[in-house]
Amino acid sequence: MKAVVVGAGIGGLATALRLAREGHEVQVFEQSESLGGKLNVFSQNGYRFDAGPSLFTLPALVEELVELSGEPRERFQYHTLDRSCHYFWDDGTQLIAWFDKAKLAVEIKTKLGVDPEPSLKHLAHSAFLYETTAALFMERSLHRAKSYFSKDVLKALVNVFRLDLTTSMHRANERALNHPKLVQLFDRYATYNGSDPYRAPGVLNIIPHLEHNIGTFLPKGGMYTITQTVAELAQESGVKFHLNAPVSRIVTENGRATGVEVNGSVVPADTVISNADVFTTYRHLLPQENAPAGVLERERSTSALIFYWGIAQNFPQLHLHNIFFTNDYAHEFALLKEGKAISDDPTVYINITSKLEPNDAPEGCENWFVMINVPAHFEQDWDALIPKARTAILAKLSKVLGMDVEPLIATEALLEPRTIESKTASHRGALYGTASNDRMAAFLRHPNFSSSIKGLYFCGGSVHPGGGIPLCLLSAKIVHELIESDHA
Ligand code: FAD
Repeated sequence: MKAVVVGAGIGGLATALRLAREGHEVQVFEQSESLGGKLNVFSQNGYRFDAGPSLFTLPALVEELVELSGEPRERFQYHTLDRSCHYFWDDGTQLIAWFDKAKLAVEIKTKLGVDPEPSLKHLAHSAFLYETTAALFMERSLHRAKSYFSKDVLKALVNVFRLDLTTSMHRANERALNHPKLVQLFDRYATYNGSDPYRAPGVLNIIPHLEHNIGTFLPKGGMYTITQTVAELAQESGVKFHLNAPVSRIVTENGRATGVEVNGSVVPADTVISNADVFTTYRHLLPQENAPAGVLERERSTSALIFYWGIAQNFPQLHLHNIFFTNDYAHEFALLKEGKAISDDPTVYINITSKLEPNDAPEGCENWFVMINVPAHFEQDWDALIPKARTAILAKLSKVLGMDVEPLIATEALLEPRTIESKTASHRGALYGTASNDRMAAFLRHPNFSSSIKGLYFCGGSVHPGGGIPLCLLSAKIVHELIESDHA
């Protein structure tokens, strides 16, 4: 079988690798000059920056690809962290989220002065949510009847009233936890797929399970090692990559995908897999086709402003992942929902890979990836909003860290909703495709196949099971299984 993958994001790379391992002839066409899509990298003035994702969970999904390629697991190496995050509040409270539950319990007791038991129980509930729902909602297509004939469906149905489907994440956290700072800490997990804890269903409390019960990791060499590893395995398995090769059209004949058009020539294929955002795919690559009802109107996930700062100093109180919380989370999410303004007091995330990878910054310096959540791009006046946000971020960090941060910035780069959209063709610069604020979100996301065009499949963060590296890797697995079963 000849397969063509449109886009070399992590979902596209993993799909290409899986198909090549089955013996299929696979070509990947990527419009930009590099592989990885959002999972990318750059260096500037002696600092290395992971451009997009910074948080890595479920390394087993990458290891599975290594093993599938007949390589030793050690080919993909990573640090295992003893903590998930350092949290900071304006009132001086600091909390380290240790992986070790006993240490976490002591931290909660000493820093917040409350009984840690409800938090530990909440993490056990998170594990229960994962065990009850992951196999059904993350690991197979929700749009094929045979997915529903399994014991996993029964398990989810029997427990349906314990899944918090009709309660918001925030309400579920308020109900379970005994301190407003813990509620805020657990609410933040909604942002891991660009959602809003005040609207997203409580079942999203599945997310902390990944960090707190399974673990937080960093690939050796930084996040881009994920892209490099999967791309190299794919190449060694025979996949052919074409860079600077934008696909302008998916060619269809008699209800079947028969190839793609690239630079004016048609590349024939038996199977086409789009890793491009599903909105972009329908709008630009299949303009003659009607997208399934509602798909193009679904709420987009949040976007982000990222300042990449080379910082000419070490901050021992910071670690790989750091959060500086706003004083008013509800207001911050209300503004994100409204989509026009950015909070004057945003929650600021700083990722510093040089804490574990010293070569990522010159000696005595740190590579700061400083990010705030912002609405998806709807023609806001970003040229006015961005400098204002930069001032607010610097004010917050300087206050909490007790020193003026701006003079320490030795080099700077910026990623914002418009550039996320232009660099990766992500509709409206959304980080994670569609938001999960609707309790039916899992069912409303586009399936991994087209029901009107035979031989056309979809992988990546804008389709089932959703955004983020682990889910994109799972989308590749689902697409691979669908293609094999359709061909059988
Ligand atoms: P994408 O990365 O969206 O890539 C799609 C590719 O298709 C692009 O390379 C694009 O150029 C190409 N393409 C599009 N149209 C065409 C065409 N017509 N022809 C050829 N090529 C085309 N996830 C996490 O797990 N952890 C995090 O901490 C995290 N943080 C993030 C922070 C930022 C700033 C961003 C931007 C994202 C973050 N994410 C995070 C989300 C994660 O990066 C994405 O969900 C994931 O990388 C998306 O992969 P994908 O397979 O959907 O492809």
